[in-house]
Amino acid sequence: MSDSILVINCGSSSLKFAVLCDEGQSVLLEGIADRLGYTNSTLTFKKDGNKESIHLKEGTHKSAVAEIKKWLSDRPAILDSLTGIGHRVVHGGETFSQSVLIDQSVIDGIAECANFAPLHSPAHIIGMNVAIELFPGIPQVAVFDTAFHQTLAAEQYLYPIPMALYRQHHFRKYGFHGTSYRYISRRLAELEPNSLQQGVLVAHLGNGASTCAINKGQSTDTSMGITPLEGLMMGTRCGSLDPSLLSFIAEAEGISSADALDVLNKKSGLLGISELSNDCRTLEEAMALGNEQAKLALDMFAIRTAKYLVSAATTLDSIDHLVFTGGIGENSSYVRAAICQQLKAFNIYIDGDKNSLRGATMSIESKQSHVKVWIIPTNEELMIALDTIHLIRQ
Ligand code: AMP
Repeated sequence: MSDSILVINCGSSSLKFAVLCDEGQSVLLEGIADRLGYTNSTLTFKKDGNKESIHLKEGTHKSAVAEIKKWLSDRPAILDSLTGIGHRVVHGGETFSQSVLIDQSVIDGIAECANFAPLHSPAHIIGMNVAIELFPGIPQVAVFDTAFHQTLAAEQYLYPIPMALYRQHHFRKYGFHGTSYRYISRRLAELEPNSLQQGVLVAHLGNGASTCAINKGQSTDTSMGITPLEGLMMGTRCGSLDPSLLSFIAEAEGISSADALDVLNKKSGLLGISELSNDCRTLEEAMALGNEQAKLALDMFAIRTAKYLVSAATTLDSIDHLVFTGGIGENSSYVRAAICQQLKAFNIYIDGDKNSLRGATMSIESKQSHVKVWIIPTNEELMIALDTIHLIRQ
């Protein structure tokens, strides 16, 4: 069996994993441990179209990695083919501007910026420590969601608050979905080599959603901030709003500011407006049955996305490409059309027939459009595997 890479993505209450071979191009195995931290967590393996789930007695990230190792030990051909492990890390602060081989100093660096991702960073560190213990001798790499945006200029990443807060506490915009944007930039360059010299706007629209401007292959602006709450309206996150609302909500509802922040993170966005669901597909189905609030939520989502795309474009010399990616960006023709409807002033037009197709990599602009509009499925696992291969070969 060819060399393979194990990709580990430790979330706050889940652990997704995949084994990629053929230089990251084929997925040999993938799976998820969910409901970690609860009593009924399960670990599911998917291989060759077959699904196998086991109950995780101890529902922890540590036991999930241990069970993955056990499962692989029963399939020595896969286990022996592992040459590296790549870990997705949500927040690398200002310390990490690219992927790195993991050693203790890297783990310490991730711990130092854990206050910006308090649910994710501790899970990442547990995942790394267990993987180092259980897969001795296999090099491990950390790939950061924030790293791609370290190229932002100070004018873009600073918040207009007292500079001392930045100097002392590193309060600034970091941006997320960087691994996805890096993949999109690379994939677009395969499809259109000129794009590496051009201005590219990307809308990564999933349950979490953000936009990015990429100038000559480098991120110049992005909508998420010090945390993923800033920017677009999302599945359950409100995105940007007047910060005074935080204390208004806390006071009006008689709750703490932490609980008010929870409202903005977990009860807002598509869910908050529709009062039905955070899920775009569910809302589209409800809209088709005449649910006006579902339509309002989707239209607000689209309008706000368009505004952020235009705002990001101020960092580009020209808008040459607009790319849609993420679960909504790749699949929702309604949302794509509603976004582009707002972008006519920028000579962005899509072809209705092409836009109704789904799932493939393609361009969907109409003849009158001055901008190429793309649907490109993202592939963060491939990017993590490629970084891992690159670093272990160095
Ligand atoms: P992600 O977070 O990238 O996995 O994206 C999840 C979002 O994509 C959810 O809101 C889904 O409803 C949405 N989505 C996935 N498939 C479709 C589809 N066929 N039509 C509309 N939305 C979809």
